[in-house]
Formats: sequence, C-alpha cells, structure tokens
Amino acid sequence: MRGELVIIGTELLLGEIVDTNAQFLARGLASCGINLYYKSTVGDNWVRIVETLSRALSRSDLVIISGGLGPTEDDLTRGAVAAVANRPLELDEEALEAIEAYFRRRYGEGQMPPNNRKQAYLPRGASAIPNHWGTAPGFILELPGKAIVALPGVPAELEPMFAQTVLPYCRQRFQGDVLVTKNLSFAGIGEAGLEELLKDIILSQTNPTVAPYASQGMVRIRLTARAATEEEGEALIAPVADMIAARTEPYLFSTTGQALEEVIGQQLTARGQSLALAESCTGGLVGHRITNVAGSSRYFLRGYVVYSNAAKVSDLGVQESTLAQYGAVSPQTAQEMAEGVRRAAGADFGLAITGIAGPDGGTPEKPVGLVYIALASPGDTIVEKHHFAGARGQVKERSAQAALTLLWKNLR
Ligand code: ATP
Repeated sequence: MRGELVIIGTELLLGEIVDTNAQFLARGLASCGINLYYKSTVGDNWVRIVETLSRALSRSDLVIISGGLGPTEDDLTRGAVAAVANRPLELDEEALEAIEAYFRRRYGEGQMPPNNRKQAYLPRGASAIPNHWGTAPGFILELPGKAIVALPGVPAELEPMFAQTVLPYCRQRFQGDVLVTKNLSFAGIGEAGLEELLKDIILSQTNPTVAPYASQGMVRIRLTARAATEEEGEALIAPVADMIAARTEPYLFSTTGQALEEVIGQQLTARGQSLALAESCTGGLVGHRITNVAGSSRYFLRGYVVYSNAAKVSDLGVQESTLAQYGAVSPQTAQEMAEGVRRAAGADFGLAITGIAGPDGGTPEKPVGLVYIALASPGDTIVEKHHFAGARGQVKERSAQAALTLLWKNLR
C-alpha cells in the first residue's frame, strides 16, 4: 500500500505559507498504516500539476491532493484530476446544493457568486466529500486498484474533512495495519551518548523500530510499532520501552511526551515547594517555559531578568566586589544570583543563569557560549559550567534547557 501526497499552491513554493497540511496528512496516513513514499509540492500551473499527478498515479495506490479546489481560475485540481484519470467533469447536483446551502446560511438567499458553481463539478464517478466548514467539496475518485482523494487547501476545512471522511475510508478500503508510537524524552544527555547506551537495541529492533531524535537540548527516542490493532502495537512497544527505561533512568524524564517544564511543575507541586528565577543571558526564556505550564502560579513565585550588572546588584544583592573580581559570567556571580533570588522571592529554589550568548562579547578566557547555571536549594547551592556551541538563539535555548535539567535532576 503506497501513499503519496500532492500539495498544490504557488504560495507554498514562494515560502509564503508553511505546509501544515502535508504534516497533518502524513500523520493521518501513518496512523492507519499507509506507507507514505512520496510528497510533491507544485504551484498553480496546469502542465506541472498534470505532470505531478500522472507521476503520482503511476507509482502510488493512494494519492491525496491538498489545495486548488477554490472557485477561481487558478484552482486547477478538479480539471487536472479529470484529465489524468481520463474522465469528464460533471455537475454533482448534491454538491451544488450543499454549496448553495452554505451561501444561504452565511449570506442569505441568492448570494452565491456564479463562480462557485464550478466547485460542484467533479470527475465522473467521483464521490463528493462533504465540506461543512467552507464551500469546496472534496472528492474521492476510485480507479482500478487505486484512489485519488482531493481536499481543499484551507487547513480548517481539510483537517475535519480528512478526519470525518477520508480516514474512515482509508481504514476500510486499505485495511492497513496501525502504526503506534511512543516517545521517551531525555535531558542531560546528547543524542550520541544515548545512541551509545542503546546501540544494540536500536540496531536489533525492527518492530517496534527505535530511533533517536534531538532538538534544542532535548533528546527523544521514538518507538514505532506496526500492528493490526492499537492494543497489539502497545503490547509490542511496552517491553522495549521498559528495557530502554531501565538503562537510561538518570536521564529519562517522560514516557508520555510531556515537556521538561511540565514534569518540573509536577515535582514542585508534589513537594509543595516554590521556585524563583534570575536570568541573564536567557532573557526570560526559562520563565517563559515555566509559565507555559497551566497552574504554574502554584509554585513559580518570581522571575528577574537581570541583564545589567547594576540590576544584579540592586535586585539580587550580588556583591559589586564579586562582579569586579570575577565578572558577570562566573561561577561566583551565578551562585550569588541564585542565592539572591531565592532570598528575595522567599522561594525554596533559586535558579540562575549567566553567560555569553554571542556573537560578540567573548574573550579567550570567556568564549561565546560559556554559561554558568546555579541552583540554590534549601540545603546548598550547586553551580554548573557549560560551554554551548551555536548561534545566539541556540545558546539561549540550550542554556534554558540545561537550567531546567539541573532543577529537574535535583527535584528527583
Ligand atoms: P478554497 O476553496 O478556500 O479556495 P483551495 O482548495 O483552493 O481552497 P487553496 O486556494 O490552495 O485552497 O488554499 C487556500 C488557503 O489555504 C491558502 O491561502 C493557505 O492559507 C491555505 N493552505 C493551502 N495549502 C496549504 C497547506 N499545504 N498547508 C497550510 N495551509 C495551506
């Protein structure tokens, strides 16, 4: 069972919009076990659309098209499908009635522009996919051993139409296996380190497959099982996930796709403890992440963005002499920031970050990417030194991730 996506729209090729439909459709097909082999993006151009559709039909069993079903001259999908399938376009009375009803509901009697009639013309033999969210009906055209599905480009129309009509159709027509996935999330270890720990499992497992992914300081292992039912897939995944969890326990923070800040929120809530932040080079990024979690007001008391030396002194009580002797980016300053913010906020934990995000400001002794993170706890204060690679944004993100990781580890 080979699936293929054809995404139509010049705006996509110009980079004006992001192709969220392809991502949505790809996930949908994966969920019903249809292998997606190809995805093409093509502009609103008759010759290239026909060429792309012909190629797709020649090599795939199911072709799903997004876009080009509107009422204007550059909406070419209906005609192009009719051409490659060698079928005439015919008026679908029911589809026309649905479009008229849509305009009646929204604008009153007799308000449908004549152009919209065009949307009710479908290739002969196609069945319309109802669109309760806009004007253009989609359609499914069955061909010998193959099927073409066309959906409008507007995500708010495409997504529910896919869920309500196309997904059940695919499940019934192609009776594919399901793909079940589980993500294990890690902090405090890189992709390479994790791969080293799990090399034998990654290489030997085929169902589920085991694959590491990394982004912004967080590493995930994705387990994907192919099975007849969801339950069977989960049963295949469970023992492998347990085996991985046993080996990676110091780094594993979630087996359910939670963000690190959510897990920290649960830890602090369970302990009835509170947090305050003092951020320099992250500029509030840690506070942003902490407050992305609903209910964070229960444990997050206060966050300072102390960018200048003066602010570090006046807001947190960092000693002028510390700054003069060791500099703003130093373990001593980080420690005083963490202890200062803990005191100022009356929090159980004070977390502080100070570093050089770059691209300027580095010296041979203190290069760009040098970051100190300190955590002041009821018992003691820990200071960590990091040296992050990357551009300014990456250094900020990695620093925030490392700060949250330090906190998470200490709350375990
Ligand atoms: P309509 O019936 O509304 O005219 P259509 O099928 O003709 O829909 P397009 O004209 O191709 O669809 O796209 C309409 C709008 O939908 C685009 O301007 C864009 O905002 C959005 N859109 C189209 N394709 C995509 C896509 N692949 N991913 C995300 N958004 C998209």
